[in-house]
Parts: sequence; structure tokens; C-alpha cells
Amino acid sequence: MTKKASWAEPFKIKMVEPLFMTTREQRVKAIEEAGYNTFLLPSELVYIDLLTDSGTSAMSDRQWAGLMLGDEAYAGSRNYYHLEEAIRKYYGYKYVVPTHQGRGAENILSQILIKKGQLVPGNMYFTTTRLHQELAGGTFADIIVDEAHDPRSTFPFKGNVDLGKLQALIDAHGAERIAYVSIATTVNMAGGQPISLANLKALRKLCTKQGIRIIHDMTRVAENAYMIKMLEEGQGHRSAADIVKEICSLTDGATMSAKKDALVNIGGFMATNEWDVFEEARNMVVVYEGLHTYGGLAGRDMEAMAIGITESVDDDHIRARVGQVEYLGKKLIDMGIPIVLPIGSHGVFLDAKAFLPHVPQTAFPAQALAAELYIDSGVRAMERGIVSAGRNKETGDHYYPELELVRLTIPRRVYTQAHMDVVAESVERVYERRDRITGLKMTYEPKYLRFFQARFEPLGA
Ligand SMILES: *Cc1c(COP(=O)(O)O)cnc(C)c1O
Repeated sequence: MTKKASWAEPFKIKMVEPLFMTTREQRVKAIEEAGYNTFLLPSELVYIDLLTDSGTSAMSDRQWAGLMLGDEAYAGSRNYYHLEEAIRKYYGYKYVVPTHQGRGAENILSQILIKKGQLVPGNMYFTTTRLHQELAGGTFADIIVDEAHDPRSTFPFKGNVDLGKLQALIDAHGAERIAYVSIATTVNMAGGQPISLANLKALRKLCTKQGIRIIHDMTRVAENAYMIKMLEEGQGHRSAADIVKEICSLTDGATMSAKKDALVNIGGFMATNEWDVFEEARNMVVVYEGLHTYGGLAGRDMEAMAIGITESVDDDHIRARVGQVEYLGKKLIDMGIPIVLPIGSHGVFLDAKAFLPHVPQTAFPAQALAAELYIDSGVRAMERGIVSAGRNKETGDHYYPELELVRLTIPRRVYTQAHMDVVAESVERVYERRDRITGLKMTYEPKYLRFFQARFEPLGA
């Protein structure tokens, strides 16, 4: 038996960005002023920022050099052709329309493919994706496997579709009522959980038989491919790039937020294999984003994206990326901290219900935990629980989601293993004094997507 080799970053550091260190007194004041909402903290008062992995990646020297090669022509920028070439080479989709970010692509694709009254089944919802499906007149239907809703289940492919649930929808409503099946790789809201190749192949078979398109939310496709390589039988010998291309080949079109896997700070695109869909998208992008050869981006942004796509499917890169998330997750498990299992690909999710069993869900345990973590060490996390879930439009009551989580999302290529140690130690300190965390009451509630701007006060303070 050879010993398992450690992962390490396949890069060295050439430029650094200083962080501001704060005192506990400063942080207590800052979180109070932010209404106990980490979204309202100025980033200068954050030490380690794990709010999101979106647009927070560190670009490589090649990408920065690419910015200097920006061709800022209004039409036909050479960087557009580089982007198209990268997408065809690594993802295999035929036609490409750039957009300013993922939701720009979701808007256009939803409007083209969804007719009023149609259903859009998917492997769990994502906030912006579902909103655009609804704005286009569709209704989202959850067809993910049941394991995805259970934080204790260690099923390795919690992103899988339950084909029985899809078949039941087809039987009840007819295939014509289904706009398309929406498949995310990996599933963000379930905790960064992958779909297996076998499941996707079976889905392809069913959808082809029924004449239903599969549209791919490919925001974290490289991470999904790596999880397949590590976990799925018979896939270990393949490169992540090879698996990425096969995943894409099993779908008909895609939307991409390049702010995640593709390692840029802004950008996205829509892709399709169908000429008719492309033609319509090319028409519509002019209304919402810009000409079809820039889609709301500068030429330099498209160049950085083309290079980022190439780097994102590299095996050494993706191994270190997922390895770092796993490192933090394992450390927390060893400390006895309750987290969502298995460890996902882009972040570690604290199970706030198990962390703070004495705080009822109406006292916003995940929100309170995120605030406490910030006070302890300046680490910024995000609530994914009752505050994010919002209210039922009809009854006006809170939704009470099964999952009450604090998300520690790791930006790509930004932090070191030592930063992860600091995060884990802070979580442990908060865990040791968890009995003293009382929960919060909401003092200001915005009407839409309340988690961004809601304000709170400690209970019984
Ligand atoms: C971030 C994200 C989107 C939306 O992309 P933006 O670039 O933020 O507009 C869509 N789907 C998933 C799974 C995402 O994580």
C-alpha cells in the first residue's frame, strides 16, 4: 500500500492583497450596525470572507495578461471568438451567446423555451434560475432524490434526479407540458452535491424517448466532473476535462455563471446545439445585454473567461480546489461539529439545527450562528435557512425549511490552508459556548429576497 499523496496548490503566489485585522470590540460594533446580517458588513471589516464563491476567485497571471489583450471593438471582438473556441473545445456546445453573468443567460433561455403554464422539473431549485422560470410563465417542480433534503444522509450523489418523480409528472401532465428538464452540476442548494454520470445517462434516455430537452446549469460542472472521477465506479482513470465534455454532450443547451468554476470576477454565457434557439437568443440578447458578440461584457472579460475555462478543467487545479473544501470539512468533523454530509465541492455547510438545538427556528438559528462566527474571528459566512426561504405568499407565514444551514463557501485559489485552520478553530470556539447563543428577532424585513437586507437584534440581550 502506498500512502495517499497530499494535495497542494498547483500554483505559487505572485501578488498579495492585505487583509484588515479587527478587534473583537470593532466586530461587535460592526455586526450590531449591520443588523446581525453578514450581507450588510463592509468587506474591509471582514478577515476571511466565505460569504460566496461567486466572482471571488483569484485570476491567474495568464488571465490578467489576457485582460491586456482585450479587443474592445463593438462587433466581432477577437476575444469573442476565443471564448467560442474554448466553449466548443471544453464543453462541446455548438453555439454561444455571452451574457453579463449567469442570470442574464437564464433570462434569455427561459423566455425562449418556456411557454406559459409549462412545468420546469429540476434537481432542486436555485434562486435566480427559478425566478426566471417563473417570470417566463413556468412552474418549477423538484425532482431531486429524497436524500438531498436530508443533511445526515451520506449518499454520494445527492444531485441525482429521481426518475420516478419525473415519470410521474409526465404521466400526470403529458410530455408537452414540460418545457425542459433543468439540471444543475453540482447542486448548490443541496450543499454542492454532484449528479452521477449513470443518472444523467438514464435521464437522457428517458428525455429522448419523450422528446424533452435537457438544459444544463453548468455553473460548477468541473467540480461535478471531479466528484464523478473520485466517487463513481469505472470513472477514476478519466480526466476531469473528459468527464466535463461527456456531461455536456448529454444535454441540449446550457446557462453558465462564469463567476464560479470559470474563475472570473464577472461573466457568463448561454450555449445551445440548436440553430433555431441560437437565432432567437441572438435576437434577444441585443435587448437585455448587448450585441451577440459581447453580451454585456468587455472584450477583456471574455478573454479572461476563455482562459479561465481552460484552467478550470485542469485535474491538478480541481483536485486542489475540492481538496481544500474537504480539508476544512474533515477538520470540522473531527472536532465533532455537525455539518452537511457528504462534504460538498464548493463549501462546508454547518447544520445550525443540530449546532443550536435550544434555539427554535423562529429565532433564526443559522442567522445567529453566522453573526456569532463573525464576532469571534471576523470570518464571514451566509445564512441558508428560514431567512433565505422567505414567506408563503398566500398565508404570509414563514417557510420552515428542513435545512437550516450556515454556508462557509470557499473562493477559488484565494485562501491558504492556514486560513482554513483559523476558520475551523473559530467554529470550534463558538461551538464550545453554543449554550450562550440566544437567537435573534427580526426588526426589519424587506419584501423580496429578504436575506440580503433584513435586520435583527439579539433576543434577551
Ligand atoms: C450563481 C448561480 C447562478 C446565477 O448566476 P449569477 O452569475 O450569479 O447571475 C445560477 N445557478 C447557480 C447554480 C448558481 O450558483
